[in-house]
Amino acid sequence: MNGSVTSEALVIGGGLAGASTAYALASRGISVTLCESQGQLAPKASGNEWGLLMPYVATENSAPGRLYAQGFRFTHTMFSSGMAQRVSYHECGAIQLPSTKRLARIVTEDTPCVGDVPMRRISADEGSAISGVTLLNPSFHIPQAGYCKPAHVTEALVENNARVSIKLASRVIGLRWKISSWTATLQDGGTISTPHVVLCGAYEIQSLPVAEWVPLEAIRGQTAQAIANNSSLKLRTIISYDGYVTPSEESQHFVGAHYRHNDFNPEPDDTDTQEIMSRLYRALPSISGLSVRSSRVCFRTSTFDRLPYIGALPLIEGRNLFINAGHGSRGLLTAPLGGEIIARHITNDPLGELEEAARIASARRLEKKMPRR
Ligand SMILES: Cc1cc2nc3c(=O)[nH]c(=O)nc-3n(C[C@H](O)[C@H](O)[C@H](O)COP(=O)(O)OP(=O)(O)OC[C@H]3O[C@@H](n4cnc5c(N)ncnc54)[C@H](O)[C@@H]3O)c2cc1C
Repeated sequence: MNGSVTSEALVIGGGLAGASTAYALASRGISVTLCESQGQLAPKASGNEWGLLMPYVATENSAPGRLYAQGFRFTHTMFSSGMAQRVSYHECGAIQLPSTKRLARIVTEDTPCVGDVPMRRISADEGSAISGVTLLNPSFHIPQAGYCKPAHVTEALVENNARVSIKLASRVIGLRWKISSWTATLQDGGTISTPHVVLCGAYEIQSLPVAEWVPLEAIRGQTAQAIANNSSLKLRTIISYDGYVTPSEESQHFVGAHYRHNDFNPEPDDTDTQEIMSRLYRALPSISGLSVRSSRVCFRTSTFDRLPYIGALPLIEGRNLFINAGHGSRGLLTAPLGGEIIARHITNDPLGELEEAARIASARRLEKKMPRR
């Protein structure tokens, strides 16, 4: 870009979080510059072939349960109001199997909490009838859940948006505050001056000196596209276990996902692919022997309690530095909601119904990490 630009707000990162934030700001009349370091939108975690929009099944009154339920409603409403086709949203419903001790307890004893998202406990027989494949245990059915193309969501939010100027191949390498605005320096030497900056670069925001202290972890994930066979073609819903599988789309299933700390290998690994497929066969023995067509690796960004950071960074108040990152494995639930919360902060609009979500996902417990200058 090589030059100086002024903008009302700068959003760093062109994935789901950045696009959602830019969209919410632009919807309030703010001109946004969106910088993405790579040559396209959604090149990283938001570039998975398919992503599940599925609420988290929690025990009653858990904070994560309420946050994710609100996120689900927010994204689902966004899809229902005109975006569903563009983002290839398939509202096929999902079945959550009791794959952990926590879920097994909820399925047998506790009151589950997914806010007011419709969800029902079902027997193994009913689950088999709904999903089209044999299920061995009682489970939960979430009829509004579905899957979409996360990259299409990212594009739909910002492409052809007159108030969003997208700068691809534009890595921000520095941010400096002076008097009443930030100056961002780009790798190519250009600068952008702006009163508001939102950090949406996932774990990579740590490469910016101003945010190197924010504790975010990159967690490797691998997914696979598997070719459907006669048994698997009967699958009609998403099944979530210690992995997940979608119904076949153009005769392929999307199977996820591997989860590994301290592994930075960007290439797919055969052992990991086998593990993903073994988990599928353990959960659904009636579907087995699928051949894997391709695999993809990307990195989730996680926080100490696995909830995202959405809001103003502490101790930099007055300097208008915000964060929308750390969406872990549930970016479709929390990144759009995060964009809306940040836009309301920046424009001083009341948080209203989003107040609790904003509190749960605030940039919490960061004061002690912030370096003293
Ligand atoms: C294997 C796997 C499966 C998943 N499945 C699901 C799912 O089914 N459902 C679901 O809801 N979520 C899922 N997720 C999580 C979801 O993909 C993420 O939470 C979401 O994509 C995060 O979006 P983001 O914008 O924060 O990050 P990213 O998509 O990683 O975007 C950050 C962007 O910022 C750019 N950037 C970084 N630093 C800079 C800089 N200095 N200057 C300019 N640009 C910069 C990067 O290039 C990148 O494009 C999955 C994640 C993984 C890894």
